[in-house]
Amino acid sequence: MTIAFQGIGVAASQSVAIGPAFVTGHGIHTATQTLIDADQVGDELDRLNTAVAQARRALKAVRSQIPPSTPRNIAEFIDTHLLMLDDVALIDEVRKIIRDQLFSADWALQLQRDTLVSVFDAMDDPYLRNRRDDVEHVVDQIMSFLHGAPTQLEATGRDLEGCVVVARDLMPADAITLRNRGAAAFVTEFGGPVSHTAILARSLSVPAVVGVHNITRYIRSGEPLVVDGDTGTVLANADAQSLAYYRQRLGAIEARRRHLRTLVDRPAITRDGVTINLLANLDLPEDAQAARFNGAVGVGLYRTEFLYMNRNDLPDEAEHLATYLTIVHALDGLPLTIRTLDLGVDKRSEALGDPGASCCNPALGLRGIRLCLKEPMLFRPQLRAILRAGALGPVRAMLPMVTNLQEVASVLAIIAELKEELTHEGLAFDPALQVGAMVEVPAAALAARALAKRVDFLSIGTNDLIQYTLAIDRLDDSVNYLFDPIHPAILRLVRMTIEAGRALATPVAMCGEMAGDPRFTRLLLGLGLRRFSMQPGALLGIKEIILDADTRELERRATALFAGLDEAEPAQLLDALNAA
Ligand code: PEP
Ligand code: MG
Repeated sequence: MTIAFQGIGVAASQSVAIGPAFVTGHGIHTATQTLIDADQVGDELDRLNTAVAQARRALKAVRSQIPPSTPRNIAEFIDTHLLMLDDVALIDEVRKIIRDQLFSADWALQLQRDTLVSVFDAMDDPYLRNRRDDVEHVVDQIMSFLHGAPTQLEATGRDLEGCVVVARDLMPADAITLRNRGAAAFVTEFGGPVSHTAILARSLSVPAVVGVHNITRYIRSGEPLVVDGDTGTVLANADAQSLAYYRQRLGAIEARRRHLRTLVDRPAITRDGVTINLLANLDLPEDAQAARFNGAVGVGLYRTEFLYMNRNDLPDEAEHLATYLTIVHALDGLPLTIRTLDLGVDKRSEALGDPGASCCNPALGLRGIRLCLKEPMLFRPQLRAILRAGALGPVRAMLPMVTNLQEVASVLAIIAELKEELTHEGLAFDPALQVGAMVEVPAAALAARALAKRVDFLSIGTNDLIQYTLAIDRLDDSVNYLFDPIHPAILRLVRMTIEAGRALATPVAMCGEMAGDPRFTRLLLGLGLRRFSMQPGALLGIKEIILDADTRELERRATALFAGLDEAEPAQLLDALNAA
């Protein structure tokens, strides 16, 4: 019998896996309401403390097994869980419930978990909402020790080589354990595409599908499973035909990856001799390795927001500088574009609270450059660090969410002041630091010529440009279907920005997701885009298209597409442009 499940697909670099299921009950520990006598409080607190200590030891053991090649953020996930074991809001509250309400440690833990989970559930921000997973994972770990048994995943000595692990939920620590033990993929009932575990699966290149409701009830260990991390499909007991299809896809994915690797050292030059700059987007300093591994000629967007997340304080100038220099060093002479802080809406800092919370629509509120200009004490240390990093490598600053020229002028004035300050202090900096603006709001695109006169470069952030132009919140699932990079309005704004840059000899890049999507590469080349910045894993696929492109031909085709834009469906026009 063939049972097909549809879940949320989580893209991972190796997107398909076939292997026997290993079903684990991980993530199911629950407690029943149990009252204790007043004289049992001490024992119950001891039980809790012992379980917390065991959970801490178990997490530390996993942390020590992380191979040195693993990205640092993975260890940071474990550190987050270790910190939570000491968190006042979690463990101290549980102790209080035991003492005040005379509940068993298990029940007190479950009560406090439910309280915290409901707080996270009420949050609008999907990133923060997913932090509820961390609470659940840590509580589950403690609960398993309270129940006297380590988690099933750790208890088994079974070799997971080639297995597809199926679990209700997995802790980030499990993702590492799984990979170390050779698991081919994992499937969970819970979790969303931006949960820590899903992020880790992508970083670890383990195919994964999350959010497959009730799958642990339907699958038995040993059953053959197919996991398609591209479409979010999990097939159990697939028939011979489906298996043959997926085996062929797996083979094709591997062959393609091998082929793309052969392109890594080839310069991205089109058939008619035009050099294209293929740059990488970095979320974390560690991503610089992946950028180089995939042949990036520089970094077109380093999102510094991640420096501010998962902590209760703000990074100071020294920390900014040290982080930037780590990347400069890793890039070994390749240029680094540091985007200044773009907090607000989806990217937040615990230390700053929620700057946009007081207004109705934070996406239109105090975010990006607006927040930085309002809070100079936040902005100045970052700018000083960028200027100082510029003395030691090719570094540029890029401003997010620019809507008017005054914002650019204000930043340039602050930079001029900081240069004087640094000179006075005798600190080295780049006196000719290049400053660019992101084009992410329609106003910036419409005023691109004026902007292009005042900055050293522009970079089109299509993720936000699409959100603001089409009036769709990029975090709101219910309007995601309207997200359309080839809406005529978007195409016109992109063209307008590229042309403004061309007219004023101001380089224009694109660093939104559209730049790394192979469907749009030929169109963007036809519009005159020569700088593409994208997640490192997308670089070689885009390079392959570039190597086979002829910009003169594509410019003709793009002109034809625009001529037909009011008459035909953009998708059909795009197909025609992409046709051989
Ligand atoms: C964009 O908006 O396209 C962009 C690259 O910035 P972010 O995704 O960080 O908002
Ligand atoms: Mg943006």
